[in-house]
Amino acid sequence: MSKEVRVRFAPSPTGALHIGGVRTALYNYLFARKNGGKFILRIEDTDSQRFVEGAEKYVIEALKWCGIEIDEGVSVGGPHAPYRQSERSAMYLAYAKQLVENDYAYYAFDTAEELKTVRSEYEKRGETFSYNAKVRETLATSLSLPAEEVERRLTEENHWVVRFKMPVNEDIHMTDIIRGDVTVNSSTLDDKVLFKAVDKLPTYHLANIVDDYLMEISHVIRGEEWLPSLPLHVMLYRAFGWTESMPQFAHLPLLLKPSGKGKLSKRDGDSLGFPVFPLLWNAPDGSVSRGYREDGYLPEAFINMIALLGWNPGTEQEILSMDELIDLFSLEKVGKSGSRFDPEKAKWFNAHYIKETPNEVLAKEFSKVLDDKKIECEDAKLLKITAIVKERALLMTDFWELASYFFIAPTSYNEKVFKKFYKDENPARVVEASKIISEVEDFTGENIHEALHQWIMANEYPMGKIMNTLRLAIVGTNAGADLCQIMSIIGKKDTLDRINAIGQCTKL
Ligand code: GLU
Repeated sequence: MSKEVRVRFAPSPTGALHIGGVRTALYNYLFARKNGGKFILRIEDTDSQRFVEGAEKYVIEALKWCGIEIDEGVSVGGPHAPYRQSERSAMYLAYAKQLVENDYAYYAFDTAEELKTVRSEYEKRGETFSYNAKVRETLATSLSLPAEEVERRLTEENHWVVRFKMPVNEDIHMTDIIRGDVTVNSSTLDDKVLFKAVDKLPTYHLANIVDDYLMEISHVIRGEEWLPSLPLHVMLYRAFGWTESMPQFAHLPLLLKPSGKGKLSKRDGDSLGFPVFPLLWNAPDGSVSRGYREDGYLPEAFINMIALLGWNPGTEQEILSMDELIDLFSLEKVGKSGSRFDPEKAKWFNAHYIKETPNEVLAKEFSKVLDDKKIECEDAKLLKITAIVKERALLMTDFWELASYFFIAPTSYNEKVFKKFYKDENPARVVEASKIISEVEDFTGENIHEALHQWIMANEYPMGKIMNTLRLAIVGTNAGADLCQIMSIIGKKDTLDRINAIGQCTKL
């Protein structure tokens, strides 16, 4: 039997989770659920230089909002705890030493200044310095120095590192589920640092491989930017003697800017006119970046949109719930080429999901906006308004703008519309209309419509002009929902007050 599917999402807490990161988490999650496996959240925080306060909390909150459930990991625990690498730091040195002992790695003692000097010497000669087989025996390393000197430096100095000893001229064969077979010659690769004495911490490469092994990860699904690290990772599995349990790899295509030119990056922030983060991000430096949640997107719409950036079910179906995504997902259907992000399509998805969401759920959300504005509204009325507004809203944040006239009588009138309709007989007609309206007993939209219609027909009045002037009085402009429905919802008194108010209006 094949081994249990165990995948991990392993972000480094270096800032807010970008939509590309959400997609990586989502594909991992869909793959785990589809195959009855586990989705693990591991926080890779061994790079203390790049650590950003609040980033881990942000990741957890974002996954929760998206409906991506963590089976094991930071915030939920599990059999391989701790899942935060900084809390596992004590064990990595032994693994690095094991590689040195077996001649797969070595100690390097160069200081940052020494390396800088070597680099600039190379540059002067028009060459690029690379820490590899050509230099490892000429620099201050355990391969060039006598054993006692190595011992002395290891105990007395704290700037040594462990570097992987990349073999010379060897074809490294790798298989990627999305890209197929890939071969890289080892001579094109350098000797990457695996462990740093200065902070007693492993680098990404060592910690990542050791943890994937210990956490029994079956599939590594991550962004394309990690593909260049794959040869080293494969070599590390080999050096540790873990080839048998090496996970399968799948590198996801890049997310591109809407123009198709270049990668959609974190730094794009709000500059392209749409958020690149799931939630609003208050960075420690005081800067604030927009988030899909705060911009009025529903998580179902956001997830549906993200899921289709690089994957499709092989049919025309675009509206897919999380359960349908799980059911249809396969890594084989993930494309190789970059996927262009389309902010307009994101709105299209959202409008669809708003229409599909029960009025009660939307009303509850909308009531938060009303609470903020200290507007009280009884449930039945709020539900009616919600039912009308949801048909027009692209974003949850559109609700107030689309519905404000239900709560607040016009304080001014649209000048153009006023000039067009509030003239000739129309002002007198709406006064007459208010009498008709006042006589409607059961104040439903249908009854108001019926009464107005009969009155207009009986007097052969111009329907359009009268209704538009009435709309101006009630809404303040020529927009909004069905007018008789509006009147019914705001009630007889408010309707008559608004018609009366336009009559009192002396200036715009
Ligand atoms: N910590 C890496 C990142 O920030 C994880 C890459 C991987 O999944 O191996 O994306």
